[in-house]
Amino acid sequence: MKPTAKKFDLSFEFFPPKTTEGMDKLREARAKLAKFNPEFFSVTFGAGGSTRDRTMDTVLEIQREGFQAAPHISCISSSKSEIRDLLHAYKAQGIKRLVALRGDIPSGEVSAGDFKYASELVAFIREETGYHFNIEVAAYPEFHPEARTPAVDLLNLKRKVDAGANSAITQYFYNADAYFRFVDQCDTLGINVPIVPGIMPIYNITQLARFSSVCGAEIPRWLKMRLEEYGDDMVSLRAFGIDVVSELCETLLAWGVPSLHFYTLNQSNIISNIIENVQD
Ligand code: FAD
Repeated sequence: MKPTAKKFDLSFEFFPPKTTEGMDKLREARAKLAKFNPEFFSVTFGAGGSTRDRTMDTVLEIQREGFQAAPHISCISSSKSEIRDLLHAYKAQGIKRLVALRGDIPSGEVSAGDFKYASELVAFIREETGYHFNIEVAAYPEFHPEARTPAVDLLNLKRKVDAGANSAITQYFYNADAYFRFVDQCDTLGINVPIVPGIMPIYNITQLARFSSVCGAEIPRWLKMRLEEYGDDMVSLRAFGIDVVSELCETLLAWGVPSLHFYTLNQSNIISNIIENVQD
């Protein structure tokens, strides 16, 4: 059943392209998504600062276009002085919102950074810049793959909020019940910040399975089997994916989620279809 039409907030996540062609494609995607009047566009950050300049350049370009831009900062393998410089550079440029993460250690590398967990980064941002930034952190309705237990993971989210995070964006999921239960448990623990669902459109089953194996987001068996059945028929797979994700968004909005955050992979068409379905 569709919820009664209501306004909802949106945000869109991009990665910083490596090539001028990639930058052009991103500009095109951004122009199409801008018509939905998002609250902000966020830009990811490679662990250890590998995309530092590209993240900064992309964020500043978005800001020049008149949109609110939120750089991600991941702290693993970074020193305090590197993060301090980055925070002050963003502050000087008038950036007001950050997504603060631990990041993943690139395979084969040993972490030599000053931060072990995202909660330490959040505390450091508050120490260095007070309440200048609105800070978003990551949350995991199906639990982070390294979490020893669900309770440990929930307590970690609480630690990040207690350290000064204003809101959380979730890892993607296709099982709305996992999110509802997670939010209920957060309420019980006194985690009183908005927990915005992260939405991953379905572009391609191989790519989705690869992401999910790394981040621990489950592709339900029925969904995986239906997607596999499409084989190379990408047109039908994407049409089916649009239906599934539109329904997920409708269920979440009917339940009363504060907003939706889309993982765009720098593309706009499928997301535009989903949002238009949901707004109908
Ligand atoms: P943390 O909150 O530090 O948690 C990491 C693990 O440590 C969890 O298992 C947690 O339970 C555990 N833990 C934390 N504190 C403690 C403690 N004191 N004792 C025991 N266990 C503890 N990655 C990037 O590299 N760049 C990005 O731009 C990026 N953007 C993202 C955006 C979103 C919305 C999300 C959901 C994820 C993003 N990631 C990004 C991925 C993220 O960096 C990884 O999921 C990473 O593995 C964990 O990051 P975190 O900030 O959640 O870490």
